[in-house]
Amino acid sequence: MIYLDQIGRNMKSDAIESASPHVQSLPYADNALSPVISANTLAFHYGKHHKAYVDNLNKLVEGTEYENLPLQKIITATAAEPGKTAIFNNAAQAWNHAFYWRSLRPQGGGVPPAVLKLKLEASFGTLDACKKELATAATSQFGSGWAWLVLDGDKLKVVKTGNADTPVTTGMKPLLTIDVWEHAYYLDYQNRRADYVNAVLDKLINWDFAADNLG
Ligand code: MN
Repeated sequence: MIYLDQIGRNMKSDAIESASPHVQSLPYADNALSPVISANTLAFHYGKHHKAYVDNLNKLVEGTEYENLPLQKIITATAAEPGKTAIFNNAAQAWNHAFYWRSLRPQGGGVPPAVLKLKLEASFGTLDACKKELATAATSQFGSGWAWLVLDGDKLKVVKTGNADTPVTTGMKPLLTIDVWEHAYYLDYQNRRADYVNAVLDKLINWDFAADNLG
């Protein structure tokens, strides 16, 4: 699995894969995605929601067999373990959020790098068809969750996951994600999840990050 290394290289993040205490950064200022996502939303989303997952995880793993494991190992080790749900949920949400911040960028959207565009066209027909499928997954996810562009074997696919669930536990390689928990958009868009999703896809989505994650 390479994509976690690539997060660090591409976005100059601190070590998402470090062991406890886990520390995660926002790779831009909290007003960098405005007006599509306001500084107010980012301040709460990163500073309260994401931080709470990281803080909870650090408390939960302290003194356990998971304490010195990198984040992705904690996720895969606890995914199917009854009694480890709290550790899994907080570890997966920590990872999902670090990946989400890097799936967005100021002045994003537009046309993907050629290597990704060709692959998108081979899998979906057109870039627009891929964006439509991402928007449909994001808007049709019932309740909280995530929409993902993933590499599954040699094919690109769109999948959605509920709550903290993440493709990290599957054989699929995440390329980018959109957070569709209400906390991601409610301050800016209230109940209009589709408006948030379409604005993100048109103006913020980081195709360069997705292309780099192809490996
Ligand atoms: Mn979130």
